[in-house]
Formats: sequence, C-alpha cells, structure tokens
Amino acid sequence: MQLDTLVAHYHEIGLKGRNRNFFEDALARNMRRALRGTGYLKLRQGFGRVVVDMKEDGDIDAAAERIARVFGLAYIGVGKRVDPNMDAIAEAALDLIQAEPFNSFQVRARRTHSAFDRSSSDINVEIGQRIVDATGGKVDLKHADATIHVELFGSACVVYRKRLTGTGGLPVGVSGKMLALLSGGIDSPVAAWRMARRGAEVELLHFHGQPFTDPSSIRQATELAEVLARYQLQATLHLIPLADAQREIVTHAPSNLRVVLYRRTMMRIAAALADEIGAKALVTGDSLGQVASQTIENIRTVDAALPQNVEVLRPLIGMDKQEIVDEAIRIGTYEISTRQYQDCCVLFEPRSPATRSNAGLAEQGEAELDIDALVGKALAGRETKVVELAPPTTA
Ligand code: ATP
Ligand code: MG
Repeated sequence: MQLDTLVAHYHEIGLKGRNRNFFEDALARNMRRALRGTGYLKLRQGFGRVVVDMKEDGDIDAAAERIARVFGLAYIGVGKRVDPNMDAIAEAALDLIQAEPFNSFQVRARRTHSAFDRSSSDINVEIGQRIVDATGGKVDLKHADATIHVELFGSACVVYRKRLTGTGGLPVGVSGKMLALLSGGIDSPVAAWRMARRGAEVELLHFHGQPFTDPSSIRQATELAEVLARYQLQATLHLIPLADAQREIVTHAPSNLRVVLYRRTMMRIAAALADEIGAKALVTGDSLGQVASQTIENIRTVDAALPQNVEVLRPLIGMDKQEIVDEAIRIGTYEISTRQYQDCCVLFEPRSPATRSNAGLAEQGEAELDIDALVGKALAGRETKVVELAPPTTA
C-alpha cells in the first residue's frame, strides 16, 4: 500500500486567539517551503491540522522528516487517505499492521467534526477486532508497540501507523527578525535556534579574526548556519572582520579589560547591523558565570556600551552547560561546534581577564580609541551569504 497523506497537528498555535490566521498563514508558508522538491501535491488547513497530499511519485518519508523540523507542529502522521467507512479503514489498518512485525497493538481513533457517524470507541473496537481476526495479534492498551491511528475530520479519513514528533514552538516569522551573534562554539547556535523556535526569523552575525587567524571559524559558522537553515528554511549569515578593532584595543587599552572591550565592540557593531537589517533584538549564547566574560558584572558592562533602545536576549542565561550540550546534540550542531577552529576572541587573550568590570572602567579603557571609526571600518568589511535549506537528495 502506498502512503499518500501527512496529517500535521499544530503545537501552540491553537492558543493564539485572534492572531490565529497570522500564525496559520506563516506555518503554511514555511511548510510549503520545506516541502519543495519532495513531490507534494497540495496542502490544506482546517480542523486544527495541516494535511499534505503527496503526488504518486512523491517521497513521503522525506516530506515528513522535513516538516518535522518546521517550528509550530506537535506531531505528524504518515498515512493513507481512505473513504470514511469501516471497510476502507479496516483494509488500510490491516495493510499497515502487517507491513512490519509487532507484538501487541492498539487502535486509536479520533474524530473532529466528522461526517462519519460512528464513535471513536466503536471504531477502536471494530477495527481492533478485525485485526485480531485476521492476524491473531494481541491488543494492549497500555504498552502496545504498534498503534493504528484513525483520524476523522470533516469528510476526510486518514489511517496511519508511523508518527513523527514535531519540533514545537511558533512558526518562523511571527516574532519578527532578530540578529544572533554566532561564534563557532556550542552555546550560540543553541541560543539562535531557541529564538527561531519562538517564531523569530534569526539572521546570524559571526566575527572572524582574519588575517590573524585562518578561515576555520568562518567554515564553522557556515556549517552551523546550514543546520539552522534546516529548521528556519533559510539563514542569512553576516561575516565581519574584528581583527583591526582587536589590534587597536590591544595597543591602547589595559590587557585585563581586553575581553570585555572586544565584547563591547562586537555589541556596538551588532547593534548597528541590527538597525540596518530591521532586527528587533540581539541574541547571544551567554550563560551566567560560565566564563570570565559572563559574570553579571561583565554582562552589564557589555550592555552598557549599547544605546538604551537595543534589546539583548540571552535565552541560555539560566541553563547549565550540560543542558546546553544536550540541546546542541538534539538540534544537530554539537558535532560541528566541537571541532577545532581559530576563534577571534582568543587573539591576544590576556592571562587574567577581569571578572568584575564596570562601565566606568570600560569607558576609561576606551578613552584612546576612536570607537565610531572602529565600528564603521568593521561594518565596511562585512560579507553576507544566504544559506538555504538544501533540496532533498533523491535516492
Ligand atoms: P559560545 O559557545 O557561543 O562560543 P562561549 O561560552 O564561548 O559561547 P563567549 O566566548 O564569552 O562564550 O561568547 C559569549 C557570546 O558572545 C557567544 O555565545 C556569542 O553569542 C557571542 N560571541 C562570541 N564570540 C563571537 C564571534 N566570534 N562572533 C560572533 N559572536 C560571538
Ligand atoms: Mg565561544
């Protein structure tokens, strides 16, 4: 039997009251984009679901996997559309249950405004009995290793056995644009991903140390952007050289303040870029106390460099390293982040960075620097590339 239909269920989107259309439109747009190249026929919304009809030669497994990463979905059934009557449901259910070995099974029917006039429990009992009669299989309502789902909504009926868990969150785009500062490390990709899952369209900004470092951090940032594009469908990556500014800081400021002054410079550049691209907030991967630059004193010193109206979001601030690592593994960024690369921040790194700075000290440290010129020069060296979700590879 050829599977032909995906039934995707909304995650939080259902709770959004009057904004519902806005959320649903964004979700459908994102799903269509993720489905490009998989051979889907059409996509319909209604009854708290998005239904995707596949073409006969479409790749339904690739399609399911791709929408499982689109933010806004709770789960996705991979199934067969049948007429809403017991015989048609039973035929599909039998095909599905016999397609793969099982020890015990259950049938789970779910009706939403269905035209079919039998109750969910009628369907569970009758289809279950027909499977028992045909296969001798054992019903287990608690620990079944195979579940046949029957979904009835409107005039439609879809039967499926395979169900993928979605990524949850809100559709990308509904929270506007943000600019995430992306190093090559473990934390910042997770921070960017978390804000994308809350509906932000996240653009990425990576500072590199070229020509004093090799291009390895740019390769890191690009590969991390590719992973984010799997979820976000597209990731715009801005690459900005920081080395000149760092050299100025090294020459003209006290060495124990270097790290904080690098970070203040990064934030000023980021704020200027955010303004230019229309991003409503900056996002960083700071986690309180994790390293010298992330004490609350130093975070305040860094933020004090910014104009008052710039919002800095730090979604990992209260997370432990292990929690961040676990999330990076789930998302698929961890392996990339743990490769060796040359980070711009370790250039001229002082032996004992200050852990307790304040804005006054930082301003004194910057007294001999022409900050506006440094920011302007860095921005002028910017390169931008757009990383798109790659089309599925046809087997
Ligand atoms: P990460 O794991 O994200 O590299 P970290 O634990 O190494 O973070 P820091 O080096 O203090 O911590 O960086 C804190 C945050 O500053 C990062 O999460 C990131 O948002 C930003 N950042 C650091 N280095 C860069 C860089 N080269 N380009 C862009 N942003 C950076
Ligand atoms: Mg780092």
